[in-house]
Amino acid sequence: MKKGKKLYEGKAKIIYSTDSKGLVIQHFKDDATAFNNQKKTVIDGKGVLNNRISEHILKNLSQIGIKNHFVKNINMREQLIKHVEILPIEFIVRNIATGSLTKRLGIIEGTVLDNPLFEYCFKNDKLGDPIISKEHITTFSWATKKELEKIDNMLLRINDFMVGMFRGIGIKLVDFKVEFGRLKTGQKTEIILADEISPDTCRLWDSNTDKKLDKDRFRKNLGNLIPAYQEVAKRLGILHEEANVRHVNFSKPKSVKLKKNK
Ligand code: 5GP
Repeated sequence: MKKGKKLYEGKAKIIYSTDSKGLVIQHFKDDATAFNNQKKTVIDGKGVLNNRISEHILKNLSQIGIKNHFVKNINMREQLIKHVEILPIEFIVRNIATGSLTKRLGIIEGTVLDNPLFEYCFKNDKLGDPIISKEHITTFSWATKKELEKIDNMLLRINDFMVGMFRGIGIKLVDFKVEFGRLKTGQKTEIILADEISPDTCRLWDSNTDKKLDKDRFRKNLGNLIPAYQEVAKRLGILHEEANVRHVNFSKPKSVKLKKNK
Protein backbone atom coordinates (compact mmCIF):
# COMPACT_ATOMS: atom_id res chain seq x y z
CA MET A 1 0.00 0.00 0.00
CA LYS A 2 1.43 3.36 -1.09
CA LYS A 3 0.94 6.69 0.70
CA GLY A 4 -0.34 9.35 -1.72
CA LYS A 5 -1.02 13.05 -1.54
CA LYS A 6 -2.38 15.07 1.34
CA LEU A 7 -6.18 15.25 1.06
CA TYR A 8 -6.97 17.27 4.16
CA GLU A 9 -5.13 18.84 7.07
CA GLY A 10 -6.95 19.56 10.30
CA LYS A 11 -5.74 20.94 13.62
CA ALA A 12 -4.46 17.63 14.99
CA LYS A 13 -4.49 15.23 12.04
CA ILE A 14 -3.66 14.90 8.33
CA ILE A 15 -5.45 12.62 5.87
CA TYR A 16 -3.43 11.14 2.96
CA SER A 17 -4.73 9.20 -0.03
CA THR A 18 -3.54 5.64 -0.73
CA ASP A 19 -3.55 3.38 -3.79
CA SER A 20 -6.15 1.14 -2.08
CA LYS A 21 -9.70 2.00 -3.07
CA GLY A 22 -11.76 3.49 -0.26
CA LEU A 23 -8.86 3.62 2.19
CA VAL A 24 -6.88 6.62 3.44
CA ILE A 25 -4.13 7.22 6.00
CA GLN A 26 -4.83 9.19 9.18
CA HIS A 27 -1.68 10.86 10.55
CA PHE A 28 -1.67 12.15 14.15
CA LYS A 29 0.26 15.40 14.61
CA ASP A 30 1.80 16.72 17.83
CA ASP A 31 -0.02 20.04 17.40
CA ALA A 32 -2.31 21.11 20.22
CA THR A 33 -4.91 23.82 19.73
CA ALA A 34 -7.69 25.18 21.92
CA PHE A 35 -10.29 27.94 22.03
CA ASN A 36 -10.90 27.83 18.30
CA ASN A 37 -7.21 27.92 17.38
CA GLN A 38 -6.40 30.97 19.55
CA LYS A 39 -4.07 28.90 21.73
CA LYS A 40 -1.57 26.70 19.90
CA THR A 41 1.57 24.73 20.60
CA VAL A 42 3.40 21.55 19.68
CA ILE A 43 3.63 18.83 22.33
CA ASP A 44 6.22 16.18 21.43
CA GLY A 45 4.77 12.69 21.52
CA LYS A 46 1.07 13.62 21.77
CA GLY A 47 0.30 12.26 18.29
CA VAL A 48 1.92 8.91 19.02
CA LEU A 49 -0.11 8.47 22.21
CA ASN A 50 -3.40 9.52 20.59
CA ASN A 51 -2.82 7.19 17.64
CA ARG A 52 -2.35 4.24 20.00
CA ILE A 53 -5.15 5.13 22.43
CA SER A 54 -7.65 5.78 19.62
CA GLU A 55 -6.74 2.49 17.93
CA HIS A 56 -7.32 0.63 21.20
CA ILE A 57 -10.71 2.22 21.88
CA LEU A 58 -12.00 1.88 18.29
CA LYS A 59 -10.93 -1.78 18.14
CA ASN A 60 -12.81 -2.44 21.38
CA LEU A 61 -15.88 -0.60 20.09
CA SER A 62 -15.73 -2.71 16.93
CA GLN A 63 -15.92 -5.83 19.09
CA ILE A 64 -19.19 -4.65 20.64
CA GLY A 65 -20.63 -3.97 17.17
CA ILE A 66 -19.95 -0.24 16.78
CA LYS A 67 -18.83 0.02 13.17
CA ASN A 68 -15.99 2.48 12.72
CA HIS A 69 -13.39 3.65 10.26
CA PHE A 70 -10.33 1.95 11.81
CA VAL A 71 -8.67 -0.66 9.57
CA LYS A 72 -5.13 -1.19 10.86
CA ASN A 73 -2.17 0.41 12.50
CA ILE A 74 0.59 1.45 10.08
CA ASN A 75 3.21 3.00 12.34
CA MET A 76 3.57 5.04 15.55
CA ARG A 77 1.73 8.03 14.07
CA GLU A 78 -0.44 6.60 11.32
CA GLN A 79 -3.38 4.30 10.86
CA LEU A 80 -5.22 3.03 7.80
CA ILE A 81 -8.86 4.06 7.87
CA LYS A 82 -11.95 3.81 5.68
CA HIS A 83 -12.58 6.96 3.67
CA VAL A 84 -15.89 8.48 4.77
CA GLU A 85 -17.78 11.68 4.16
CA ILE A 86 -17.61 13.30 7.61
CA LEU A 87 -20.88 14.84 8.84
CA PRO A 88 -20.34 18.53 9.74
CA ILE A 89 -21.42 17.89 13.33
CA GLU A 90 -19.59 17.34 16.62
CA PHE A 91 -21.52 14.91 18.79
CA ILE A 92 -20.88 15.53 22.50
CA VAL A 93 -21.88 13.19 25.30
CA ARG A 94 -21.69 14.37 28.92
CA ASN A 95 -21.84 12.40 32.17
CA ILE A 96 -20.57 15.11 34.53
CA ALA A 97 -21.10 18.86 34.04
CA THR A 98 -17.98 20.86 33.22
CA GLY A 99 -16.52 22.95 30.37
CA SER A 100 -18.88 24.82 28.07
CA LEU A 101 -22.00 23.30 29.72
CA THR A 102 -21.25 24.97 33.05
CA LYS A 103 -20.37 28.28 31.35
CA ARG A 104 -23.39 28.32 29.04
CA LEU A 105 -26.08 27.29 31.53
CA GLY A 106 -24.57 28.02 34.94
CA ILE A 107 -24.72 24.37 35.97
CA ILE A 108 -22.46 23.69 38.98
CA GLU A 109 -19.08 22.26 37.98
CA GLY A 110 -18.87 18.53 38.73
CA THR A 111 -22.65 17.90 38.84
CA VAL A 112 -23.18 14.21 38.06
CA LEU A 113 -25.92 13.95 35.42
CA ASP A 114 -28.70 11.40 35.97
CA ASN A 115 -28.55 10.37 32.32
CA PRO A 116 -26.00 10.99 29.57
CA LEU A 117 -26.65 14.36 27.95
CA PHE A 118 -26.23 14.65 24.17
CA GLU A 119 -25.28 17.92 22.52
CA TYR A 120 -24.78 18.69 18.84
CA CYS A 121 -22.42 21.37 17.49
CA PHE A 122 -22.03 22.63 13.94
CA LYS A 123 -18.41 21.99 12.88
CA ASN A 124 -17.44 25.45 11.71
CA ASP A 125 -14.32 27.18 13.03
CA LYS A 126 -15.36 30.60 11.72
CA LEU A 127 -18.56 30.39 13.77
CA GLY A 128 -16.85 28.80 16.79
CA ASP A 129 -18.62 25.40 16.46
CA PRO A 130 -22.01 26.67 17.73
CA ILE A 131 -24.41 24.40 19.59
CA ILE A 132 -27.38 23.38 17.41
CA SER A 133 -30.60 21.39 17.75
CA LYS A 134 -31.57 18.23 15.89
CA GLU A 135 -33.99 20.39 13.90
CA HIS A 136 -31.07 22.47 12.58
CA ILE A 137 -29.38 19.27 11.47
CA THR A 138 -32.39 17.98 9.54
CA THR A 139 -33.52 21.40 8.25
CA PHE A 140 -30.14 22.05 6.66
CA SER A 141 -29.74 18.40 5.57
CA TRP A 142 -26.52 17.85 7.52
CA ALA A 143 -27.96 14.44 8.41
CA THR A 144 -31.31 12.72 8.01
CA LYS A 145 -33.70 11.93 10.85
CA LYS A 146 -32.95 8.24 10.35
CA GLU A 147 -29.19 8.83 10.47
CA LEU A 148 -29.58 10.85 13.68
CA GLU A 149 -31.63 8.09 15.30
CA LYS A 150 -28.92 5.59 14.44
CA ILE A 151 -26.21 7.92 15.76
CA ASP A 152 -28.04 8.60 19.07
CA ASN A 153 -28.32 4.87 19.55
CA MET A 154 -24.60 4.40 18.87
CA LEU A 155 -23.72 7.32 21.20
CA LEU A 156 -25.52 5.61 24.09
CA ARG A 157 -23.71 2.33 23.47
CA ILE A 158 -20.33 4.04 22.98
CA ASN A 159 -20.84 5.94 26.23
CA ASP A 160 -21.94 2.85 28.19
CA PHE A 161 -18.95 0.90 26.96
CA MET A 162 -16.42 3.65 27.59
CA VAL A 163 -17.77 4.59 31.04
CA GLY A 164 -17.30 0.94 32.06
CA MET A 165 -13.91 0.57 30.40
CA PHE A 166 -12.52 3.68 32.09
CA ARG A 167 -14.17 2.94 35.45
CA GLY A 168 -12.30 -0.37 35.45
CA ILE A 169 -8.98 1.48 35.32
CA GLY A 170 -9.85 4.13 37.89
CA ILE A 171 -10.89 6.90 35.49
CA LYS A 172 -14.18 8.85 35.24
CA LEU A 173 -15.36 9.50 31.68
CA VAL A 174 -16.65 13.04 32.20
CA ASP A 175 -17.55 13.83 28.58
CA PHE A 176 -16.36 13.29 25.03
CA LYS A 177 -16.76 14.42 21.44
CA VAL A 178 -17.10 12.05 18.48
CA GLU A 179 -17.67 12.40 14.77
CA PHE A 180 -19.47 10.17 12.30
CA GLY A 181 -19.17 9.72 8.55
CA ARG A 182 -21.03 8.19 5.60
CA LEU A 183 -19.37 5.09 4.19
CA LYS A 184 -20.33 4.29 0.60
CA THR A 185 -20.01 0.67 -0.51
CA GLY A 186 -21.56 0.13 -3.94
CA GLN A 187 -25.16 1.32 -3.71
CA LYS A 188 -25.18 1.16 0.07
CA THR A 189 -24.43 4.09 2.37
CA GLU A 190 -24.06 3.61 6.10
CA ILE A 191 -23.13 5.77 9.05
CA ILE A 192 -19.99 4.74 10.92
CA LEU A 193 -17.95 6.21 13.77
CA ALA A 194 -14.91 8.13 12.48
CA ASP A 195 -12.19 10.62 13.55
CA GLU A 196 -10.54 9.69 16.88
CA ILE A 197 -11.30 8.94 20.52
CA SER A 198 -8.40 9.97 22.76
CA PRO A 199 -7.57 12.24 25.70
CA ASP A 200 -7.71 15.07 23.12
CA THR A 201 -11.42 14.43 22.60
CA CYS A 202 -12.52 13.16 26.04
CA ARG A 203 -12.44 14.57 29.54
CA LEU A 204 -10.91 11.93 31.81
CA TRP A 205 -10.56 12.43 35.58
CA ASP A 206 -8.79 10.11 37.98
CA SER A 207 -11.54 8.39 40.00
CA ASN A 208 -9.96 9.05 43.38
CA THR A 209 -8.39 12.48 42.99
CA ASP A 210 -10.27 14.05 40.03
CA LYS A 211 -6.84 14.80 38.51
CA LYS A 212 -7.31 15.74 34.87
CA LEU A 213 -5.79 13.21 32.46
CA ASP A 214 -6.84 14.94 29.22
CA LYS A 215 -6.45 17.97 26.97
CA ASP A 216 -7.71 20.31 29.72
CA ARG A 217 -4.10 20.10 31.01
CA PHE A 218 -3.21 22.17 27.93
CA ARG A 219 -6.38 24.30 27.83
CA LYS A 220 -5.98 25.29 31.49
CA ASN A 221 -2.15 25.52 31.50
CA LEU A 222 -1.84 22.68 34.02
CA GLY A 223 1.30 21.24 32.36
CA ASN A 224 2.37 17.58 32.29
CA LEU A 225 0.09 16.65 29.41
CA ILE A 226 2.32 13.84 28.15
CA PRO A 227 2.63 12.10 31.55
CA ALA A 228 -1.18 12.31 31.88
CA TYR A 229 -1.78 10.77 28.42
CA GLN A 230 0.90 8.14 29.19
CA GLU A 231 -0.91 7.31 32.40
CA VAL A 232 -4.14 6.74 30.46
CA ALA A 233 -2.26 4.49 27.99
CA LYS A 234 -0.53 2.61 30.80
CA ARG A 235 -3.77 1.99 32.66
CA LEU A 236 -5.35 0.78 29.40
CA GLY A 237 -2.41 -1.66 29.20
CA ILE A 238 -1.16 -0.42 25.85
CA LEU A 239 2.25 1.04 26.71
CA HIS A 240 4.01 -2.26 26.21
CA GLU A 241 7.54 -0.92 26.40
CA GLU A 242 6.79 0.14 29.96
CA ALA A 243 4.76 -2.91 30.93
CA ASN A 244 6.92 -3.65 33.96
CA VAL A 245 6.67 -0.09 35.19
CA ARG A 246 2.90 -0.31 34.87
CA HIS A 247 2.72 -3.34 37.12
CA VAL A 248 4.96 -1.76 39.73
CA ASN A 249 3.21 1.61 39.68
CA PHE A 250 -0.40 0.86 39.05
CA SER A 251 -1.35 -2.70 39.99
CA LYS A 252 -1.91 -2.00 43.70
CA PRO A 253 -3.77 1.33 43.53
CA LYS A 254 -5.82 -0.06 40.64
CA SER A 255 -7.22 -2.98 42.63
CA VAL A 256 -7.91 -0.74 45.62
CA LYS A 257 -9.82 1.69 43.39
CA LEU A 258 -11.85 -1.11 41.83
CA LYS A 259 -12.99 -2.35 45.24
CA LYS A 260 -13.93 1.17 46.31
CA ASN A 261 -15.98 1.72 43.15
CA LYS A 262 -18.05 -1.39 43.78
P1 5GP B 1 -16.86 21.49 25.85
O1 5GP B 1 -18.08 21.76 25.01
O2 5GP B 1 -17.18 21.41 27.30
O3 5GP B 1 -15.73 22.44 25.55
O4 5GP B 1 -16.32 20.05 25.40
C1 5GP B 1 -17.05 18.88 25.63
C2 5GP B 1 -16.22 17.66 25.25
O5 5GP B 1 -16.06 17.62 23.84
C3 5GP B 1 -14.80 17.67 25.82
O6 5GP B 1 -14.44 16.33 26.09
C4 5GP B 1 -13.95 18.21 24.70
O7 5GP B 1 -12.65 17.66 24.76
C5 5GP B 1 -14.69 17.72 23.47
N1 5GP B 1 -14.64 18.69 22.36
C6 5GP B 1 -15.56 19.61 22.03
N2 5GP B 1 -15.18 20.31 20.96
C7 5GP B 1 -14.00 19.81 20.59
C8 5GP B 1 -13.07 20.13 19.54
O8 5GP B 1 -13.30 21.00 18.69
N3 5GP B 1 -11.93 19.40 19.51
C9 5GP B 1 -11.65 18.42 20.42
N4 5GP B 1 -10.50 17.74 20.32
N5 5GP B 1 -12.51 18.09 21.40
C10 5GP B 1 -13.66 18.78 21.49
